[in-house]
Amino acid sequence: MKKTLSVLLALVLGITCMTACSSKTVTQEDDTKLQIVTTIFPEYDWVMNVLGDNPADAEVTMLLDNGVDLHSFQPTAEDILKVSTCDVFIYVGGESDSWVEDALKEAENGNMVVINLLEALGDSVKEEELVEGMQGEEEEEDEGEEEEIEYDEHVWLSLQNASVLVNSISDALEKADPENAGVYEKNASAYIAQINALDEEYKAAVAEGGKDTLLFGDRFPFRYLVDDYNLNYYAAFVGCSAETEASFETITFLADKLDELGLPAVLTMEGNDQKIAQTIIQNTQTKNQKVLTLDSMQSVTAKDVEKGVTYLSVMESNLEVLKEALK
Ligand SMILES: [Zn+2]
Repeated sequence: MKKTLSVLLALVLGITCMTACSSKTVTQEDDTKLQIVTTIFPEYDWVMNVLGDNPADAEVTMLLDNGVDLHSFQPTAEDILKVSTCDVFIYVGGESDSWVEDALKEAENGNMVVINLLEALGDSVKEEELVEGMQGEEEEEDEGEEEEIEYDEHVWLSLQNASVLVNSISDALEKADPENAGVYEKNASAYIAQINALDEEYKAAVAEGGKDTLLFGDRFPFRYLVDDYNLNYYAAFVGCSAETEASFETITFLADKLDELGLPAVLTMEGNDQKIAQTIIQNTQTKNQKVLTLDSMQSVTAKDVEKGVTYLSVMESNLEVLKEALK
């Protein structure tokens, strides 16, 4: 099998070389270097996995690389230029990405392949949900104005979504660089197998856990994750709400839930000062719960990437946290 593949590959490479050698100028190659632009870290890491050894020597950019999350991101003129001149562009496509529309209007490349994660997921996209005890976001609304549906943008926190999206990325790369289509397809299926294996580990951990509810003394970007495993949840704030002050009612509701369900931990997301979580614990009867952190990957930096942080490494750490929280 392997032999046939390498013979085939040699044949394909031979043909490519002949075509390349017969083309007019060598300098054209630099102009045609594949430019791939991603907004957030998970997209970037998925692309790197599909590229593998990067046979086309593609240049990959992660726009949000300094710890500022997608809700607060303001593109620079340079960012807009990168988006408008690239070959493949990948973005989330929710409320926080409203700047993208204008950038794409400037697009110079008529053949640009664009992936909007929310569109790629179609019906799997969920609306933001307000569960019992959760503080909604105060919004200024004009009278008579129709309430807009707010989609939960944190789609990458579902491993099942990740499988679908890696396939979309593979399709996009195959379209943008047909010469290496076979390589991308092969890399994507190997990577998806890893994602699916981790998904199975999550299922097993949830099945073995003594609890089926997570309680967040924080914002709650993990709806896609809990829904994948039919976990219940309570949280202080919806999605990535800008609210930071929990009311007395919120604190006591969550503290009572901890007591009622006998949960071992209060969860927070990365970068939280844990004050709300501590206050909730102080208001329980036992006051002995742990504070644990799940990483939503919204503040992964270029430095973290250099240090070797990957989408799968974060999801593996999150699995360990989940096991603790469901004990
Ligand atoms: Zn968020």
